[in-house]
Amino acid sequence: MAERAAWVSFWVALLVLGLKALAYLLTGSVALLSDALESTVNVAAALAALLAIRLAQKPPDETHPFGHTKAEYFSAVLEGVLVVVAALLIAKEALPRLLRPVPLEGLGPGLGVSLLAAGVNALLAYHLLKEGRRHRSPALTADGYHVFSDVLTSLGVLAGVGLAGLTGFWLLDPLLAILVAGNILLMGFRLVRQSVGGLMDEGLSPAEVSRIRKTIAEALGGRALEVHDLKTRKAGNRAFLEFHLVVPGSMTVEEAHRLCDELERALEESFPGLAVTIHVEPESERKR
Ligand code: ZN
Ligand code: ZN
Repeated sequence: MAERAAWVSFWVALLVLGLKALAYLLTGSVALLSDALESTVNVAAALAALLAIRLAQKPPDETHPFGHTKAEYFSAVLEGVLVVVAALLIAKEALPRLLRPVPLEGLGPGLGVSLLAAGVNALLAYHLLKEGRRHRSPALTADGYHVFSDVLTSLGVLAGVGLAGLTGFWLLDPLLAILVAGNILLMGFRLVRQSVGGLMDEGLSPAEVSRIRKTIAEALGGRALEVHDLKTRKAGNRAFLEFHLVVPGSMTVEEAHRLCDELERALEESFPGLAVTIHVEPESERKR
């Protein structure tokens, strides 16, 4: 399901990119160029999402015993880099024109093509938002809102370039381009920040950790002396948990193992997919 939506996003983004590039070639407007480069980012994003979905779904194997779920962070970091390159390209084209504005040509057909691109994008945004609501998928919904914000950007650029054409105030073109570049940079920054957290083995949220502690305490029912060194980490849509379980030294291996199995079952029930590792210790290892 997610993969089909990602394919639709990819092909539509490619079509919109083509239309926007044509609009730029017709007019020579840097604002339209920046709008087109924003679409390059979308094409790369859709491609990266497809790759991540394919790779992250792969089960653990001999060389990747913990699975492949971190793949999506790499694609997002790559996307962030592309975004910065796109913004720099816009700046390179737009900055000289701030000092010496260039009159644009072919505005009629150019803006027409650009309007068509915005229309196609609006259809995609509508489709993604509808599917996101139908499947209760936050990822699809977020994607939909992102494409919708692109449509607004395009309309803003269209209006601005049209106004420049009507008034002959050509400075508007590079000014708009730089605004769009700033927005693209902000987008890239947010993306990279999220992914770096995952690559740095960020733990689960404090609320989730306290829910985990509660589940453990309830399942134990006082049969162990202490839980310490509890650590969590995330890898894409997977989560990992490890902790030390202090039991009376007289407890048999068999009993301790049964206790661990019970804990694992209780945790699996409340947190499906959580990978749990428990280290059993006698009371001499107590920390409190
Ligand atoms: Zn310990
Ligand atoms: Zn076992």
